[in-house]
Amino acid sequence: GMKTEHFPTATPNLNDGLIRLSSNENAFGPSAKAVEAMQGELFNLNRYADATVNVLVKKIAEQEGVSEEQIVVTNGSSPILFGYADWITKNGNKLVTSMATYEGIPRGAEFMGADVTYVPLDANMDFDLDAIEAAVTEDTTAVYICNPNNPTGRALDPVKLTEFAKRVSQKAQVFIDEAYIEMSDAYPANVQSKLAAEGYNVVICRTFSKIHAMAGQRLGYAIMPAEQAKQMGRMLRMGGVNYLGLVAGMASMDDHNNLNVMRERIKTERLKLTSTADALGRPYAKNPQGNFIYMDTGMPHAEFAEKMKALGIKVVGRTWPGYDTWSRISIGTPEENDACVSALKAVYA
Ligand code: PLP
Repeated sequence: GMKTEHFPTATPNLNDGLIRLSSNENAFGPSAKAVEAMQGELFNLNRYADATVNVLVKKIAEQEGVSEEQIVVTNGSSPILFGYADWITKNGNKLVTSMATYEGIPRGAEFMGADVTYVPLDANMDFDLDAIEAAVTEDTTAVYICNPNNPTGRALDPVKLTEFAKRVSQKAQVFIDEAYIEMSDAYPANVQSKLAAEGYNVVICRTFSKIHAMAGQRLGYAIMPAEQAKQMGRMLRMGGVNYLGLVAGMASMDDHNNLNVMRERIKTERLKLTSTADALGRPYAKNPQGNFIYMDTGMPHAEFAEKMKALGIKVVGRTWPGYDTWSRISIGTPEENDACVSALKAVYA
């Protein structure tokens, strides 16, 4: 059964009284085994963590079936995204992706002066793989795919994505951000690291911020061609990652029961929000597979966010171009989601 007593507070160190459904954090908190492992290592902070990074790298290599030389470990996955944006500018300067998707690489690349092509999502709000493939030329540096996608929560057909990546990676590197993959129904069959194992020109990016609920601790990694990992690893190492994150991350990876329970909890809570959207007649991206839903609020987003805030709920603060009335709402604890459902009913009463 659920051990609700372990749920952390919704707004740590903030005290703004709002239920934070704005950042796709994992409201259920980390694995108790991860927390215990950290507690057991608190007095070992005097040691540098490099040797422990190698233990994590070995563990990831075994789990994902890739070689240790292909793995870069960073403080959350964001440094990989920004480092990758920089890498794009030095390797042809052209990115193809979709709107709407997670901004890390596309915005970073734009900021650094890259040429970014945004292919619209298809009618299901999926990455339009055919249109993206048509937009990729011999000059394209990279293609960014997020699966499941943020903000839509939509997951691609794994076989179609694999075939797409095999073809497109002959022309440009295919970057697949799998931040939410462990939350999806098809996990682990839909993981694309096998492409990296088979030598395709791909990058697979993962984080401990989402299903592992370690967003504040910062740990993430990418799998890529070994030579690129060597170069990017040098740049992204930035003093290394922290010891307690490594300890917690490895304990969490081993806590298979927690991950399975987490996937189910998130799904149960996600269904509460999608069935509320159904009941209220609000359009939303169907069958979401992350810890969030993406809903057309039918009003300017700022107005919706203000109404929800007045009812104690903080939703995402930003919009994506072309989706000015759409809002991403993260999944909270059962109590938080009940409050969110009540707030939604009040907004549309
Ligand atoms: N990738 C996606 C798709 C995300 O949604 C996020 C965070 O929301 C990240 C990457 C970056 O998270 P982190 O730096 O915590 O790994």
